[in-house]
Amino acid sequence: MPPLSPALGTAGKHLDVRGLTTRIRTARGEITAIEDVSLTLAPGEILGLVGESGSGKSVTLRSLLSLLGPRARSTGSVNWGDEDLLSLGEKNLRRIRGSEIAMIFQEPMIALNPVLTVHRQIDESLCAHTDFNRAQRRQRTLELLGLVGIPDAQRRLDDYPHQFSGGMRQRVMIAVALAGAPQLLLADEPTTALDVTIQEQIIKLLLRLREELHMGMIFVTHDLSVVAQLCDRVAVMYAGRIVESGPVGEIFRRPRHPYTQGLMASVPRLGGERLPLQSIDGTPPSLAALPGGCSFHPRCSYRSELCLREVPPLLTLSEGHAAACHHVQASERLKQARQPNGDMRHA
Ligand code: SF4
Repeated sequence: MPPLSPALGTAGKHLDVRGLTTRIRTARGEITAIEDVSLTLAPGEILGLVGESGSGKSVTLRSLLSLLGPRARSTGSVNWGDEDLLSLGEKNLRRIRGSEIAMIFQEPMIALNPVLTVHRQIDESLCAHTDFNRAQRRQRTLELLGLVGIPDAQRRLDDYPHQFSGGMRQRVMIAVALAGAPQLLLADEPTTALDVTIQEQIIKLLLRLREELHMGMIFVTHDLSVVAQLCDRVAVMYAGRIVESGPVGEIFRRPRHPYTQGLMASVPRLGGERLPLQSIDGTPPSLAALPGGCSFHPRCSYRSELCLREVPPLLTLSEGHAAACHHVQASERLKQARQPNGDMRHA
């Protein structure tokens, strides 16, 4: 039977997203749900996408695979290997969805079909993405359930989703997603509804799958501790745009965008001096009525007149670290004026 995925170390496809913008028609007119989103992902890499609810994280994931339905229109490019997913027709997209790029949804109780056994749900995915015969599909289903850590898989094959605990249902969802042996997993808050112990188990499982299957991952979450444990790089979203991105260690050590700084300051820390937790004043703006200029300006204590007028571009500050903030860019320019070798360019 073929391996689940390309063997460790084989070259997978790169994801290169440029200027992704998605507009959605609603009853109250068209809204821009995400704007000018650019990101890259190498094979086997894990990118965390963080931000408050409504910041555009889930829309970004769904836009990559055109899963938002007929009311949504995406522009820009989503290059997967040498194909632009936005220009592929529905038939060709179906060839890629599930088999090359798979998605895990936030709530397994909604995403799994409650009237089908887990065997049937994984089998459907195997039927769609492989040419295995019945016996091979059963064998692969058992392997997948074993891989995601379902104990006594043989006995659980004919159980329904409601017979599993929350953590086990999430594992079944991951098994369904892995059935097509994808090179890239899009995970939309897969640990949000779980308690911390189960969350820890799922994170360990995803890290093990990355090691064993060399699978890339985009992991949407609003939980910074999950990002710290799981991800190589992080992109912070606010009001539909990426406002800061970079290696996880760098962003946690030295967040530059005032919004990222606010997010970091709101997380409790173990050890060290006991300091009161900070919160970010105000609330995220409605996508239907975004403020002009930088969307964060009503909540930002660094705002200037320029911030009210102009959307700050996402510029590279140092190797792999970019931020979209006039204040940060002005301080960088000042620093570079003193050290003329500095480099600041579009991320
Ligand atoms: Fe604050 Fe201005 Fe930076 Fe926006 S661009 S985060 S308003 S300083």
